[in-house]
Amino acid sequence: MTVYSGPVFDMAVKQFEVIANYLSIPEDARTRLLMPKRAVTVSCPIHRDDGTTAVFEGYRVQHHLTLGPTKGGTRFATSVDLGEVAALAIWMSWKCALVGLPYGGAKGGVCVDPASLSKRELEALSRRYMQEMIPFVGPHTDVMAPDMGTNEQVMAWFMDTYSMYQGKTVTEIVTGKPVSAGGTLGRREATGRGVAHMTRRVMNDRGINVNHATAVVQGFGNVGSIAALELHNMGVKVIAVSDHTGALYRAAGLDIPELALHAATHGSIAGYSNELALDPKEIFTLPCDVIVPAAMERVIDATVAANLRCRIIAEGANGPTTPEADLVLTQRQDEIFLIPDILCNSGGVIVSYFEWVQDLQQLFWEEEEVVQREYRILDRAFDRMVARARQDKVFNRTAAMAIGVKRVQGAKNTRGLFP
Ligand code: GLU
Repeated sequence: MTVYSGPVFDMAVKQFEVIANYLSIPEDARTRLLMPKRAVTVSCPIHRDDGTTAVFEGYRVQHHLTLGPTKGGTRFATSVDLGEVAALAIWMSWKCALVGLPYGGAKGGVCVDPASLSKRELEALSRRYMQEMIPFVGPHTDVMAPDMGTNEQVMAWFMDTYSMYQGKTVTEIVTGKPVSAGGTLGRREATGRGVAHMTRRVMNDRGINVNHATAVVQGFGNVGSIAALELHNMGVKVIAVSDHTGALYRAAGLDIPELALHAATHGSIAGYSNELALDPKEIFTLPCDVIVPAAMERVIDATVAANLRCRIIAEGANGPTTPEADLVLTQRQDEIFLIPDILCNSGGVIVSYFEWVQDLQQLFWEEEEVVQREYRILDRAFDRMVARARQDKVFNRTAAMAIGVKRVQGAKNTRGLFP
């Protein structure tokens, strides 16, 4: 019996089982590795603008504390529940371990549509959520960051709330803050940049000329829009993008800088163009070199996987591909190259780590240094994944997750079991 349930949690369990079988992890070690260390559920009451009181349910799951503090984003979305947050926390663990960060995974969230709140209500909810979490987080216990539905401003409110209770400024309590409030240069762009950098690596390795390549980006939030911009700046033609409001297609390539500006101003791609509108259902069947799922979990299921017409999948989102879809991908003759989420989108947490280090030291880096170090870590992890996949003839996700899981298992074994 467990308190965690739902399709996303089940997916994290299934993925882990594949890895545990591949690594021949003994049965009794599996539960210890997989099940989260702590889960907190809180009620967050706020005053609505109309004078009523509304209560939102919030969660934080800390997967393991074996390698250091836990680390991970906070999501404000209507999909949020304990099972989803737990799955996302587990994935953060494998991600941090794969790229060699001294963290366990965590994730948090509030079940709310942030677009339904006024700015004042959003601030009230952000502050109340952090206030409820104070007994359970800390710069050396659990460090939050942005995720879907949250941003730099929310992180600044988190940091301010925590700091007011401590009686001093504690910038290292969260990452993804504005640069003016102890954030690092290059954090906002870090995830999208990493996605584009990994894509370029694969294109180079596979002999695909970036200047003749095409991309499709599903999701146009912080990750999708920056990934699209970076790909566009590299010379890749971004022929289609979508978000929760619809999709756009232009065979000659969309004007991504203009579209990103529109989305930043209006909150979505809606209203950008009627002529370029595309049925969002078609986004995954467009022929292209790379498809970037950069929105929700489980959008690529077995059917979608069978109908993909791309050469590379660059997973900007967490958990966009189901285990059933993985099976389809491994059986396809055309060998689509998968850049798994825990590698592809790890630029975000890598630069969060840089932000935490800079805050602890109060010594700040140039953006160039941030980007170079980010790419170096990504490249090293990519090389390790590819070598492992080749050596053991396994799928890239299996190789990447196995490296992460093995590192956590190694640390647990070395530390031993207390008492
Ligand atoms: N929410 C992001 C992720 O899923 C970033 C986490 C972080 O920076 O701690 O990787």
